[in-house]
Amino acid sequence: MEKSKENIKKEIEHLREEIRKHNYYYYVLDQPIVSDYEYDELLKQLTQLEQDNPEYITIDSPTQRVGAKPLEQFNTARHMMPMLSLAKAFSEKELADFDQRIRKNYPQEYYDYVVELKIDGLAIALVYEDGLLTRGATRGDGVEGEDVTQNLRTINSIPLKLRDYSGTGVLEVYGEVYMNRDSLKKLNDERSRLAENLFANPRNAAAGSVRQLDSAITASRKLDTFIYQAAGTKVDRFSTHMELLDFLKESGFRVNSNIKLCSNIKEAIDYCRYWQNKKKELNYDIDGMVIKVNQLSLREKLGSTTKNPRWAIAFKFPPEQMTTIIRDIIVGVGRTGALTPVAILDPIFISGSRVQRATLHNEDEIKRKDVRIGDTVLVQKAGEIIPEIVQVIKEKRTGKEKVFQMPTKCTVCGSEVIKIDGEVVSRCNNISCPAQVKETIRHFVSRSAMDIDGLGPALINQLVDQKIIKDFADLYYLKKEDLLKLERMADKSSDNIIKAIENSKNRPLDNLIFALGIRHVGIFVSQLLAEKINNLLDLEKFTPDDLMQIEGIGPIMAESIILFFQQKENRALIEKLLNAGVNFSQEKQTAEKQSLAGKQFVLTGTLENYTREEAKEIIEKKGGRVTGSVTKKTDFLLLGKEPGSKYQKALDLKIKIIGEEDFNEMMKK
Ligand code: NAD
Repeated sequence: MEKSKENIKKEIEHLREEIRKHNYYYYVLDQPIVSDYEYDELLKQLTQLEQDNPEYITIDSPTQRVGAKPLEQFNTARHMMPMLSLAKAFSEKELADFDQRIRKNYPQEYYDYVVELKIDGLAIALVYEDGLLTRGATRGDGVEGEDVTQNLRTINSIPLKLRDYSGTGVLEVYGEVYMNRDSLKKLNDERSRLAENLFANPRNAAAGSVRQLDSAITASRKLDTFIYQAAGTKVDRFSTHMELLDFLKESGFRVNSNIKLCSNIKEAIDYCRYWQNKKKELNYDIDGMVIKVNQLSLREKLGSTTKNPRWAIAFKFPPEQMTTIIRDIIVGVGRTGALTPVAILDPIFISGSRVQRATLHNEDEIKRKDVRIGDTVLVQKAGEIIPEIVQVIKEKRTGKEKVFQMPTKCTVCGSEVIKIDGEVVSRCNNISCPAQVKETIRHFVSRSAMDIDGLGPALINQLVDQKIIKDFADLYYLKKEDLLKLERMADKSSDNIIKAIENSKNRPLDNLIFALGIRHVGIFVSQLLAEKINNLLDLEKFTPDDLMQIEGIGPIMAESIILFFQQKENRALIEKLLNAGVNFSQEKQTAEKQSLAGKQFVLTGTLENYTREEAKEIIEKKGGRVTGSVTKKTDFLLLGKEPGSKYQKALDLKIKIIGEEDFNEMMKK
């Protein structure tokens, strides 16, 4: 049904109000309450409605304006050239249409494109008079910005004086202030410690750091710049954007090196696609690519609208952050009985995949972020894999949100939940809890443990739920007929699993010790223990003192090992393994094989099963060396969770990067 004119007008007004509100939160407060994707969608809707109903276009519509007015606390600064926004393309087709428009209007012109990264930071303008920096400003509403000269002066990559500059005149350069991901993480860690609001992304952090009344705060934040445009004296003589960029580089500005001259739109699209896949390798955020006509004479002919130049377009990547609502918080139970709260979300698409759950880690984390059921939250994919909640959008609270209480009984078996002093996690106290049993079996069959191929989580669930097995030792008593009864199990796959279980009986002793899942005993400690014994049963006789004699084993581990062997359920498990014919004995290696002689390793991030010292010791035993920084001589980077800048360096130098699983395999050789 056709919408009435009156309704269209109302819809336009409503959208404008919404967008104005978001502009205020984003540009003035640096605290957006919707993701950029959602904002862009609103703007797209408004633009379309205005295009179809041009009689409703007004000059104060957000489609006609850039950014927001400067804040009164700062002096205003008028730009030499308007700092416009960019038209946006969300698909390759829209990029092709952009090219078609130019070609249609200027069929005789030769032109090519410069394609640049779209840095996700804060736009700035720097004025140089006779070669000296005299003013630095934010973009503001595109015509006038905020004078933040003192703050920008604290950023090292902004030259106070231009290199090789002779003569007089005024030059204004434009670019982006940004914060790299490591610096944002450090800043947010610090803010979290001080119970201050976290920055949702590097853009907000950069903007919040530059728009400070105290330049000492700006100086304390690690900010950097990329410059990509200029106006004023000396600029007129250039005929292309590439020449201008070279001039900017020679003048001492930091110009991004990932810039490509493309002879046609297809090449430009390929380059956009390339960075869409590779953007995680950069240590700063980009939210898309910018495609610009290279020839300055054609740019002049194309001109601009009130909001965007017609010679450039931004290609936006799919969103990485989205807002959604928490419908519920459920609690999962892990191998050690740890209770992990998980948020159930209204489904959203992030980085191209559907997200419906986000981890909340533990009770303390929920309290720190003040997450409640019914809250609107900003969600992102951490490291592109596990979705997490960045922050609660408190402005959206209605008062009906429910505070979450950690259960006092296990959500799977109903046993009591305990929380040990000093630990952040709550645990189910029942070692036969089906959730724990399943996780224990998953651990037992994993690659670094008994390495039983084909026994995935779905099969383990069925085996436990149908009471075919009740612990990992029962795996050795499984028959092919048991497996054939299960869903999606055929003759061949059942045979393969039985064979894999049989083969696992001969796994080395250290893998067996690790497979038992003794708390605090990772693969490294399992290796230390295996070296000291001839048979698994020897461990039962160890006293805490005996254990602590072993270098690398402290009192907590010793206590945990003793406790494990004291529990009668565990002794029964060991008995069952022995009766099934699992190898308990160790063939002593007289000397470690020096399989890593001469190899240099660098470690970054947190490893799951080793401390840094442990990993170092293992490498050194095999003749390798661990160094502190990545250089051309590094042979391997061992990558843990949340790696630091060494990861980027290793990528830059094309050093071989290995994960923990690869490392375990390597250590077996
Ligand atoms: P834009 O996306 O239109 O792009 C223009 C800006 O891109 C320039 O000002 C410049 O700062 C930047 N840029 C980075 N690299 C560049 C390069 N190599 N060449 C040229 N420019 C480069 O930005 P905008 O006009 O500031 O505003 C729109 C953006 O802000 C959108 O991404 C929008 O989603 C976001 N926004 C979000 C909210 C929200 O509530 N979430 C509110 C307002 C705006």
